[in-house]
Amino acid sequence: MASSPSLPDPATDDDDTLHEECGVFGVWNIVDAAAVTALGLHALQHRGQEATGIVSYDGRRFHQQRGLGLVGDNFGDARVIASLPGASAIGHNRYATTGETILRNVQPLYADFEFGGFAVGHNGNLTNAVSLRKSLVRRGCLFQSTTDSEVFVHLIAISLYSTVVDRLIDALKQVVGAYSLVALSNEALIGVRDPLGVRPLILGRIPQAPGTTYEAGGGWVLASETCALDIVGAEFVRDVEPGEIVVINDAGVRSIRPFGPSRARFCVFEYVYFARPDSVMEGMPVYDARKRIGAELARESHVQADVVVPVPDSGVPSAMGYAAESGVPFELGIIRNHYVGRTFIEPTDHIRNLGVKLKHSANRATLEGKRVILVDDSIVRGTTSKKIVEMVRAAGAREVHMRISSPPTTHSCFYGIDTPERSKLLAARHNVEEMAGLIGADSLAFISIDGLYRALGRPGRDDAAPHYCDACFTGEYPVPLPDMDERASKQLSLAMG
Ligand code: AMP
Repeated sequence: MASSPSLPDPATDDDDTLHEECGVFGVWNIVDAAAVTALGLHALQHRGQEATGIVSYDGRRFHQQRGLGLVGDNFGDARVIASLPGASAIGHNRYATTGETILRNVQPLYADFEFGGFAVGHNGNLTNAVSLRKSLVRRGCLFQSTTDSEVFVHLIAISLYSTVVDRLIDALKQVVGAYSLVALSNEALIGVRDPLGVRPLILGRIPQAPGTTYEAGGGWVLASETCALDIVGAEFVRDVEPGEIVVINDAGVRSIRPFGPSRARFCVFEYVYFARPDSVMEGMPVYDARKRIGAELARESHVQADVVVPVPDSGVPSAMGYAAESGVPFELGIIRNHYVGRTFIEPTDHIRNLGVKLKHSANRATLEGKRVILVDDSIVRGTTSKKIVEMVRAAGAREVHMRISSPPTTHSCFYGIDTPERSKLLAARHNVEEMAGLIGADSLAFISIDGLYRALGRPGRDDAAPHYCDACFTGEYPVPLPDMDERASKQLSLAMG
């Protein structure tokens, strides 16, 4: 039985209301819209494995299906797809996090308004969701879920504007945060990127039939990443711009910019870890970016060694870049088991204590007697690094040097990347030398923040006007955090009596 919705508290709750790290996808005017959406969501599975949903529109009615688990498990059945007729659809993958997993939190959210049906899927976090929610509840809005995305639905419902788009703009002007949205009404497919463009969203198109041109009536696609275009046979058109709303219907794409100009701050962690390596973000292939980050890491912190070994999968491209730059051979010294489901439960303490390594195992043949450079993308709590270092030593490595293709993660993300609260971040509590000791490595080095910017084609971090959102590494949060500030001031006034 699902529990009743409770108000999230951004500073203390480690629950799913705070971690809307997700993938979104939408199509307009194509054959088999729901099936295409399922394929798109499948390509975006890395952005969320907890739950998935699709809402379609057949020109008269909306249809919806949602479920917990993977896209293939929910939409692999032709009968489910057949229950989602229509030429337009949107879909959503929700990220696996701690906290309750309940069906009514699964997106896209759908509501019937006086102007017709409206579905919305959201990637990112609203940083004033708690205060907005409180005031909406005071005004009589009945929340059905614990996801902050639901504030969009209520803000649209109570808006005094008449058209869907004007109501959406009205809602967007009241929210603060980092988000990408896909929405579907009976008139249009709508995409939105937050004013700083922290979260990604791209526009693509699909020719209607072989040989016909788009002008002859082809369809449109919105997706979190370009990797979702290839699988559905779509072509990349462009990134949705920061602060842009795209309204897509049979007349084409209309662009609206309701916010004043601001400097874009795309999330640098998408390059480091989150995006799929075959995606192109802001014109830069993620794979190339990761290799360049690895090369820069080698230039900054190389150490004599016999092999460079990635922590798979996320460490692979940067380890390749590191190996190429340093001239040290690249070897697959750790093999990843791809069949570890999230629901795998270690049966007993005894088995757990035997140190069964579910996800990774060491490839002794490439490690024994070697000085090993291990490359991973990040250290969060330090659990993975500690386990991997131990495993590599147990396989006979003579020295283990850990190299990390991001700067130390010292701050939590409140913009849609799942990071634990600050006190649980290893780098928030320890310097690099202490961290090396804690994970058991002979040496540990992280790429510098300037090195990361250089690898991404910048001269370094321009502290006066940084190009990316790098709050997790610098603690400088470009989007205001009203809920956090309100909580901090409450605590202060309590402390002052
Ligand atoms: P930890 O074991 O807590 O230090 O986590 C570090 C590992 O988790 C690295 O191997 C990363 O590839 C991976 N990782 C980093 N950030 C995230 C994230 N936001 N969600 C899931 N995994 C992550």
